[in-house]
Amino acid sequence: MSGGTQKKEVKEKSKKSESARMPSLLRGFKDVLPGEEKYWDFVFRSVSRIAYEYNFSFINTPILEEASLFERSAGESSDVVSKEMFKFLLPKSGDEHDQRREVVLRPEGTAPVVRAYLEHGMISQPQPVKLWYIGPMFRYERPQAGRYRQHHQFGLEILGDASPLADAQIIISAYQIYKLLGLDVVFPINTIGDGACRSAYTNSLLEYFEPFSRKMCPDCRKRLKVNPLRVLDCKDERCQEFIDEAPQIVDMVCDDCRTHFVSVLEYLDELDVPYVLNPRLVRGFDYYTRTTFEVFLASEYEDKGLRATALTGGGRYDGLAEMIGGKQVPGVGFGQGIERIIISLKEHGDVAICNRECDVFVAQLGNEAKRKALGLYERLRAEGIRVAESFSKDGLSAQLDRANKLNSKLAVILGQKEILDGTVIIRDMVSGIQEEINYDKLMTEIKRRLKSVSENGGGIRVDDCVDHATDTSEEFETIDDVSLDENVLDGKEVDR
Ligand SMILES: [Zn+2]
Ligand SMILES: [Zn+2]
Repeated sequence: MSGGTQKKEVKEKSKKSESARMPSLLRGFKDVLPGEEKYWDFVFRSVSRIAYEYNFSFINTPILEEASLFERSAGESSDVVSKEMFKFLLPKSGDEHDQRREVVLRPEGTAPVVRAYLEHGMISQPQPVKLWYIGPMFRYERPQAGRYRQHHQFGLEILGDASPLADAQIIISAYQIYKLLGLDVVFPINTIGDGACRSAYTNSLLEYFEPFSRKMCPDCRKRLKVNPLRVLDCKDERCQEFIDEAPQIVDMVCDDCRTHFVSVLEYLDELDVPYVLNPRLVRGFDYYTRTTFEVFLASEYEDKGLRATALTGGGRYDGLAEMIGGKQVPGVGFGQGIERIIISLKEHGDVAICNRECDVFVAQLGNEAKRKALGLYERLRAEGIRVAESFSKDGLSAQLDRANKLNSKLAVILGQKEILDGTVIIRDMVSGIQEEINYDKLMTEIKRRLKSVSENGGGIRVDDCVDHATDTSEEFETIDDVSLDENVLDGKEVDR
């Protein structure tokens, strides 16, 4: 029949056009383009600086892990694990050692860090082991505005230390990072007890909510069966009045858990960290214990409380190592989505992100000057000065135009006459004032001028531009909250 032939033709045609099509960005993914560099650079520098100052060592685990790592740690009830992971079987290879394992693109950063800690015997090193990471995380969910299938996180973890001091140190380090980023944040904090005392609380919650369950949202009815703790962070209007009156875990935890919590708070007081007690703050997974906290922009938390969108969360996870099959290792940490931070930096940050793409622009006129300019470029670079050029352009105005576009602070102009005289022209790109100086004094003069800029608060490098700041909005430390916080990035930005 001709119908069949037609279908075949159509199929072949679309096959052909598919092979002729240029490959394009996958749905749900995003290219980070050079215009965003200054934000990424700013975040990276701020995080690595604080990590360095607080003595965290860098760790970089692969993005591909065995699926069971997250299935064990997160539990089957989690949406992230049950349906939002990029999971696939390793393809067959010629190597007999390659098994067709189920693997995933990592959805979060903590479980891989704990796996690496266990696998490399860090447990026998002096404890605690303090680690930080930064890198891409993945979730395979329906793409929607502001949510990408690949996003990036940095995180800090302290392993092998059960003391409340470790909790406080994670929180103060996080606080210093936000401060450096210029984001004014507040830390709602709570304790969720531990294996010894949590079940008593869970039972009392069940007992309390049972009579109201029909009036509560469908999600909560499910939660009451699977994980009653999660009812406490429901954002549905229907549930609020019941949640407000619910028993509070702080009143029910065991003495050890209470002492731990009180000590954390005392340390935070000592460190002047802006925290607020919030008895409704919970984390859903079994491996979470004791301290739990979230991070909010102070202004948003003031307006909406926990109904505002958290930048992130963190806390203690003493049960995690055991859950993935290792020894019992106490741990505490936090992670922060970078895309979310960048949105906040654009909206609220009071740090002047340095637009300057170079400090000194080297301009030249004539072949001999070009040769000398090359050498000068190297000298400046070796001094740690951010330098730019446009050697392919010969006209001075074209070169200065380029220097302007790069927001250069200074331009150094070398011409035939200057080379004969042993001089050079130094131009302030902001005022346009030029001065002829002796070539030998050039380096000293450049340093002097850049320094004065920095002292006036102008900043010569991103580092220096980084000293001030404001606020945020964000993303998620760990996998759990994603499904319940659809609003995390919704309605915000984005540029697509
Ligand atoms: Zn609810
Ligand atoms: Zn306890």
